[in-house]
Amino acid sequence: MRDVIVVGAGPAGSYLSHMLAKQGFDVLNLEEHDEIGRPVECTGVVTERVFRYVRSKSIANTVSGANIIFPGNKSIKIGKQEKTFVIYRDSFDKDVSGMAIGSGADVRLGARVRSVKVNDEFAEVEYRGSGEFTTERARIVIGADGANSIVRKSLYTARPSRVVSTYQVDASFTMQDQDSVSVFLGKSFSNGFFGWAVPTGNITRIGLGSIRKGALPYFLKLIKQFSPEPRILGITGGPIPISYLHRTSGNRSLLVGDAGGIVKPLTGGGIYTGIVSSYWASRAVSEGLESGRLDSRFLQRYEKYWKGEIGRELLIDGMIQKFYAALNDRYLSGLYRSISSRKSIEIINSSGDIDYPSKLALQLFLRNPSIAFSFLRGN
Ligand SMILES: Cc1cc2nc3c(=O)[nH]c(=O)nc-3n(C[C@H](O)[C@H](O)[C@H](O)COP(=O)(O)OP(=O)(O)OC[C@H]3O[C@@H](n4cnc5c(N)ncnc54)[C@H](O)[C@@H]3O)c2cc1C
Repeated sequence: MRDVIVVGAGPAGSYLSHMLAKQGFDVLNLEEHDEIGRPVECTGVVTERVFRYVRSKSIANTVSGANIIFPGNKSIKIGKQEKTFVIYRDSFDKDVSGMAIGSGADVRLGARVRSVKVNDEFAEVEYRGSGEFTTERARIVIGADGANSIVRKSLYTARPSRVVSTYQVDASFTMQDQDSVSVFLGKSFSNGFFGWAVPTGNITRIGLGSIRKGALPYFLKLIKQFSPEPRILGITGGPIPISYLHRTSGNRSLLVGDAGGIVKPLTGGGIYTGIVSSYWASRAVSEGLESGRLDSRFLQRYEKYWKGEIGRELLIDGMIQKFYAALNDRYLSGLYRSISSRKSIEIINSSGDIDYPSKLALQLFLRNPSIAFSFLRGN
């Protein structure tokens, strides 16, 4: 019997496989696709924090600012000294998987998991690869299999309550300002989320997310903002769960990354949070394997670990996201007036952090009590 089966070789699954294999555990990492990192379903915006965990040369561009476009085409420009990175997501995933393989994990491609069971003695996973069904047993199974996790569906009753639908294209379009991303707010471009354009030289990643309404109709309006209308080179998309599960651990199982909804609610970014959750999962799993305790009570320490680092941030950001999602365009225009002053922009530039935005929100609330008042009133 294996020590660990990790289902999914995205950033969260590969990083966890690497961490556990490095400690000498027997790790099987199953990935349904034949190639790591493909198909790409991501814009690839990350901060430098990600590279503290992962060695990767997948950077396509660096940016230091954002143009936030409000309803009525009014915009503010914000900027930071620290760079934000735009990565080639397929290369990035391959680099993380390379770390797992280098540490001794057994990574199997084209292995689609069909069912997952656990009992008091072991976890059992059935997968299909090369047309054959295979069953493997391990002391614990980890769901790192993304937004539609089969591990979660098989072993957990809860589902992320808020999910963003997305639609994104690679467009043959060169943004004049290669140092800033554009963010489009308002009901024309999204229901409850936002649109974006991210420069990577002569290709721009243009997309949007939307809550409870399909993303495509909004995309058709968003693409009209670009003139001449760009040629579309590739289309991608997919769901992003932006509310984490109350329980991400159970008997002989854990959920990491998107599988547990461990994603930043305000931006939909889940690479950093997925890797952080895997870092803590590796600690809980190694403690469990070493002490022979892989029951749900023992594994609750995983919740404590990851929430200790990012739980408070995700909780507050989730509340702000719900508030934001309910705003109409008139209110957003009011928000523009409140935060477009020089002082507010200075605050944004000095405190803005896409991984930890709650500090900035708090400072803006303090400076603009009317926003805080509406927030507390539930808009
Ligand atoms: C359009 C879009 C744009 C985004 N932009 C950003 C961004 O700019 N920055 C950012 O940080 N995040 C972004 N995200 C979110 C980010 O892509 C995810 O949060 C991140 O990929 C989560 O990593 P993960 O390892 O948990 O899951 P995933 O990357 O989804 O990996 C899960 C893996 O499991 C495999 N799998 C699934 N089911 C099975 C099965 N049954 N058997 C075997 N294997 C299986 C999948 O093939 C996949 O390889 C974006 C998402 C979307 C949709």
